[in-house]
Amino acid sequence: LTMGKYTSNTLQIYNTLSGKKEVFNPLNEGAIGMYVCGPTVYSNVHLGNVRTFMSFDMIFRYFKHLGYKVRYVRNITDAGHLENDADQGEDRIAKKARLEQIEPMEVVQRYTVDFHNILSIFNFLPPSIEPTATGHIVEQIEIIKSIIDKGYAYEANGSIYFDVIKYNESHDYGILSGRNIEDMAHNTRALDGQSDKKNPQDFALWKKAEPKHIMRWPSPWSDGFPGWHLECTAMSTKYLGESFDIHGGGMDLKFPHHECEIAQAKAWHNHSPVNYWMHANMLTLNGQKMAKSTGNNILPSEILNGDTDKLTKGFSPSVVRFFMMQAHYRSILDFSNDALLASEKGFLKLMEAVTSLSKIEATEVVNDFDVIKWKSNCYAAMNDDFNTPILIAELFSAVKYINQIKDNKASINNSSLAVLTETMQQFVFDILGLKTAVSNDQNHKLGETIELLIKMRNEARAQKDFALSDKIRDELIGIGIQLKDGKDGTTFLLD
Ligand code: AMP
Ligand code: ZN
Repeated sequence: LTMGKYTSNTLQIYNTLSGKKEVFNPLNEGAIGMYVCGPTVYSNVHLGNVRTFMSFDMIFRYFKHLGYKVRYVRNITDAGHLENDADQGEDRIAKKARLEQIEPMEVVQRYTVDFHNILSIFNFLPPSIEPTATGHIVEQIEIIKSIIDKGYAYEANGSIYFDVIKYNESHDYGILSGRNIEDMAHNTRALDGQSDKKNPQDFALWKKAEPKHIMRWPSPWSDGFPGWHLECTAMSTKYLGESFDIHGGGMDLKFPHHECEIAQAKAWHNHSPVNYWMHANMLTLNGQKMAKSTGNNILPSEILNGDTDKLTKGFSPSVVRFFMMQAHYRSILDFSNDALLASEKGFLKLMEAVTSLSKIEATEVVNDFDVIKWKSNCYAAMNDDFNTPILIAELFSAVKYINQIKDNKASINNSSLAVLTETMQQFVFDILGLKTAVSNDQNHKLGETIELLIKMRNEARAQKDFALSDKIRDELIGIGIQLKDGKDGTTFLLD
């Protein structure tokens, strides 16, 4: 039996529930259960959504790197998420179906495919289980029955509401978000249909469907559909148990969504469902949260092909990923053309160093750089609540060293070269999830071919045949290969 790296790495995770960093101890040694709220598949994901999922992809990757056995559940919300996040308005998917005159399940299919496509472009690892809300209606009905039996939910006109005031008499509604129940009442607007509720803080577990509502399922109370918050309680419990290690999502889901998940679980089985609540911060554009509803967003396709007035050019998926990893997952990150250009520079510099590293030869001399200490700094950064910006700063001290060796201004011995190479590979590719043009054998041939074209372009330039050298460069751009001239020669970037 080999021991995982986790035995020698103490992880600190910021827990929203306690408001501080805590030492991470999973319920079962060597294994982690993690649930992340997935997308509501009623439209194309925007780059803000991508950021949240990418934060958890990086976390998932690091856990796996440490040798944990991770069961990572990320759901697909394909019913029940209403327009205003509370209990009002039209179902987002049903509305889209009505506007487009297609079936709700056609909407679901179209945007689930888009979601998966985008994630694979950005080099995400697939989760272990990807359950859908509509596939778990039976489980949700059973939970509602149980919550009614325990006295924490009531029926009104065929809908079932969670009784927040009753629950709060013996529990702690607001424990996650820090909101207090009186303020919540004042902040809840009295909208149409809320008259069914005993109190404005109450939220729906089951909604009776209007006659025209096509997304409906039979239940003991009415033909209707489940509440959005209940879906995640049903799916997380089914696959991870009544108590599990980590629940994640974007910061904006803390309230009401996650607060309600805690209340449902405690009302149902009386213990806290999640040990570590993790919230990823928002991607902003012009200082405002990227959101579908306001139009203040950028789509992955727009950033890849540069087809938007917000950008001067397109950027490769790995540059976007590098840009996101340069910020800590709990910090707000503002999107801009300048920031992307700066990230592209940094990314290329990192990739050039990785390439140089593969060509370096060791010498039997004293090292000019403490590789072992550097490696432990890389782990320390990640162990400190997944601090990727600090990790990247560490990677760049290695880049500096690599460039010095390349310029014969420093040297490295055999064993240090092995550690440096392995550690760079692991952090750059396995953990940050970046991709280089020449990362495997097949791409190697492509890389060699491009190198050949670069050489021919240089020959054309030397003979002052600029028509030919420009043609080579432009045609390569046309097929998604960008050449970059630097002081050490020309490098390339694949879309
Ligand atoms: P939704 O499909 O609206 O449920 O959102 C999917 C995920 O994207 C949720 O975890 C949200 O918190 C997250 N999200 C939405 N907008 C942003 C944003 N501007 N930046 C980062 N994450 C976001
Ligand atoms: Zn959720």
